[in-house]
Order: sequence, then structure tokens, then C-alpha cells
Amino acid sequence: MERTLILIKPDAIARGLAGAVLGRFEQKGLKIAGIKMMQLDDAILKEHYSHLASKPFFPTIAEFMSRLPVIALCLEGLEAVEVCRRLCGVTNSRKADPGTIRGDLGMSMQANLVHASDSVETASVEVARFFKAEELQAYEPALINYLYAADER
Ligand code: ADP
Repeated sequence: MERTLILIKPDAIARGLAGAVLGRFEQKGLKIAGIKMMQLDDAILKEHYSHLASKPFFPTIAEFMSRLPVIALCLEGLEAVEVCRRLCGVTNSRKADPGTIRGDLGMSMQANLVHASDSVETASVEVARFFKAEELQAYEPALINYLYAADER
């Protein structure tokens, strides 16, 4: 099973949509391996958004992402990285497909409710950035036999 890093962003917290966003992942069948609320500081934001450091909008992302705490999630499932990216929809919420989190719940490019790791390699780096090993729980969801066929597990 793969693990991926999700952040429920300050706009979702402010708008009272944290539960709705988490619910989308739960309903899809992703297992919560780790969950915590965190106030992000400049150091972690610089690292997390280093691929955007040269973009003109970088300072506004850092300001936005530290305006309120975020909820960090480590989610687990078969092909969890791709499944979560598809559930989130494209970056610009106005262009995201209906049925996706961003497409259903947002109107903004920046305030797009959720972060999801974009590759398996990035996911392992990002999970380790936000969670210590002991903060991740290993357990078997009771209904796993109904979530996956035996040959998929
Ligand atoms: P994604 O989160 O979809 O993987 P990126 O990694 O490209 O997208 O960007 C990280 C975050 O930076 C986005 O989720 C969004 O909040 C913000 N962002 C990206 N592009 C812009 C932009 N052109 N203007 C404002 N904010 C942006």
C-alpha cells in the first residue's frame, strides 16, 4: 500500500470545511495513518514549496499557508498518491472537474483547500517532513475485505 501526504489548507479550516475534505478521502476508502493540526512556519514552508521559490506568487503562498493552522494527514491505500491527486482536482479550483474536492468546494487558484503529494517519490519525502515514524499508525481497517479484492491487497 502507498502512503501520501495531504494538507487541509487554511481556507478549508476557516470555511469550516475540514470535515468535508477529510470525509471525501475517508469515503473513497483511504485509511488515515496519521493526522495532526500544525501551525506551519517559514522553514517548513520554504522546504515544502521549494519548487515554487522563484515564482512571483511564492510570498503570498507562504503568507496564506501560515495564516491559520493546517491539518496534516498521511493517507494509505492502493495507488494512494494518484488516487488522492485525482480526488483533489487540478490546482485552479475554478477549472477543477465537478466531483473533485477543489471542483466542488473552491473558486480559487491559491485557496484551493488541499495539498496532495504529486508523486510516490515526493510523497515519501513529504510524509517524513510532516510526521515522525511513531506518529503513523499501523492497523487494519475492519472492512478491508470489502474495500479491495483479495488479489489487490
Ligand atoms: P498543486 O498544489 O496542485 O500540486 P503547485 O505545486 O503547482 O500545485 O502549487 C502549490 C500551491 O501554490 C497550489 O496548490 C496553490 O495553492 C498555490 N499556487 C500555485 N500556482 C499559483 C498561482 N499561479 N497563483 C497563486 N497561487 C498559486
